[in-house]
Amino acid sequence: MSDKFDVIVIGAGPGGYVAAIRAAQLGLKTACVEKWVDDKGAPVLGGTCLNVGCIPSKALLESTHQFHKTQHADVHGIQTGDISMDVKQMVARKDKIVSNLTMGVAGLFKANGVTLIQGMGKLLANKQVQVTAADGSATVYAAENVILASGSVPVEIPPAPLTEGLILDNEGALNIDETPKRLGVIGAGVIGLEMGSVWARLGTEVTVLEAMDEFLGVADKDVAKEAAKIFKKQNLDIKLGARCTGTEINGQEVTLKYTDAEGDKELVVDKLIVAVGRRPLTKGLLADDSGVKLDERGFIFVDGQCRTEAPGVYAVGDSVRGPMLAHKASEEGIMVADIIAGHHAQMNYDVIPSIIYTHPELAWVGKTEQELKAAGVAIKVGKFPFAASGRAMAADDTDGFVKMIADEATDRILGVHIVGGMASELIAQAAIALEFGSTAEDLQLTVFAHPTVSEVIHEAALAVDGHAIHMANRKKR
Ligand code: FAD
Ligand code: NAD
Repeated sequence: MSDKFDVIVIGAGPGGYVAAIRAAQLGLKTACVEKWVDDKGAPVLGGTCLNVGCIPSKALLESTHQFHKTQHADVHGIQTGDISMDVKQMVARKDKIVSNLTMGVAGLFKANGVTLIQGMGKLLANKQVQVTAADGSATVYAAENVILASGSVPVEIPPAPLTEGLILDNEGALNIDETPKRLGVIGAGVIGLEMGSVWARLGTEVTVLEAMDEFLGVADKDVAKEAAKIFKKQNLDIKLGARCTGTEINGQEVTLKYTDAEGDKELVVDKLIVAVGRRPLTKGLLADDSGVKLDERGFIFVDGQCRTEAPGVYAVGDSVRGPMLAHKASEEGIMVADIIAGHHAQMNYDVIPSIIYTHPELAWVGKTEQELKAAGVAIKVGKFPFAASGRAMAADDTDGFVKMIADEATDRILGVHIVGGMASELIAQAAIALEFGSTAEDLQLTVFAHPTVSEVIHEAALAVDGHAIHMANRKKR
């Protein structure tokens, strides 16, 4: 193997592996360095997302959603009797999906001619990359361009140190293999709500402690309010303004000490998940003279097109500013590969959908009503409930709504916020509308097939001007 590449990517998560495939597709001689190995020493590709993030969590969410639906199948006249969940099989199914996908990435590397280099990558001066293999041997490779895609790791908090089998991060949380009676979660963010939902559906008493006084501060307030109402009915006990002050292990139990507005409290649980956010992973990645700088929060400093301070060195994904989302990482990877190949490329950071895969799902794209009002933008808002959709009724899935926000003066759609059973799929329609600069009228004039859940998007667009058909509008024009 020649030791010189057009592109060396460090990290094979959704940022890195996608960048490597795109670069190779564009005719660039590309290598991807990955340090993750399994217990047999074989390379593990796909990063956090495929191995301990997006995919395994969605596999468990799907299994437990199916369980919940089966439990409530009597609404359709289906008599099931008592049903039970084989948690070990659910986890084994999740593991199979993960291994299929990570092997798939290896296959894609092969098919596209990406060279996989196993080991810990470190960027030296002048775009040289040192790779240290498991046996400690180091090789230095040279590249015309380097893409850093080292991802992120969970934030740990001193009052709740990880403890094998009892106090868990996202990785441990995905491998719980029997239904705990009581589960504690620190952090009512995305992981807390998704993993809390998995176990609440199987009958676990779930208590979520959230340090902030406001629930889901990142979401539009209407979405957060509706979600809080629904999660309460699902036995997710979310305690706001609650700060963990310490933990104590007693045999197979964890005593969680916390303080809230009422004072000091304790809660005994069988498992505790810590999900208080993630931080960029840059440990051992950069030599002192690499020329790459970190920002004040420890992220790799990049410009709007992911260029670092070192010429020819780019960084993408969770290790740089912006939302920590797989699709954001991948799109940055594609943009950077295109730029390296000499194409014009730009990513639209204003249109990145966010989804929380609870049931109903929460999904949004663009600006919230609160952000737009704070910026002094005059807006009009259309809202339509799933309860008025015939297809949602047929599916017995009528919780939630679509809220569409358009500019009062130009009619351009500025944000779409959904609580609903299929929100993760519906939000793509909104993302396309925002990306194409659609007005609410554009969607009003689009023919949506009947009966589909998507009609709720159509009706929300009509509601922006007070013209929804299948509900009484508040205002008429
Ligand atoms: P990563 O996926 O973290 O990959 C980085 C890779 O680089 C790793 O394989 C690591 O081993 C390797 N690496 C690091 N340093 C080096 C080095 N020096 N040398 C060699 N290799 C190195 N996002 C979504 O969009 N949708 C979801 O549904 C979703 N669900 C999630 C659920 C959970 C439980 C978690 C934890 C995260 C979830 N995310 C989700 C977030 C998503 O996983 C991340 O945004 C995404 O993985 C970031 O991709 P990345 O390539 O930047 O980093
Ligand atoms: P998060 O930022 O979504 O939520 C963390 C929550 O913990 C916040 O609400 C925060 O206020 C709270 N918190 C922080 N410190 C606390 C403390 N000491 N005590 C109590 N609460 C505290 O982070 P996460 O849920 O850990 O997820 C990490 C990242 O992974 C997120 O940035 C997210 O983008 C990504 N992720 C995405 C998905 C998805 O796209 N569906 C799913 C899971 C994770």
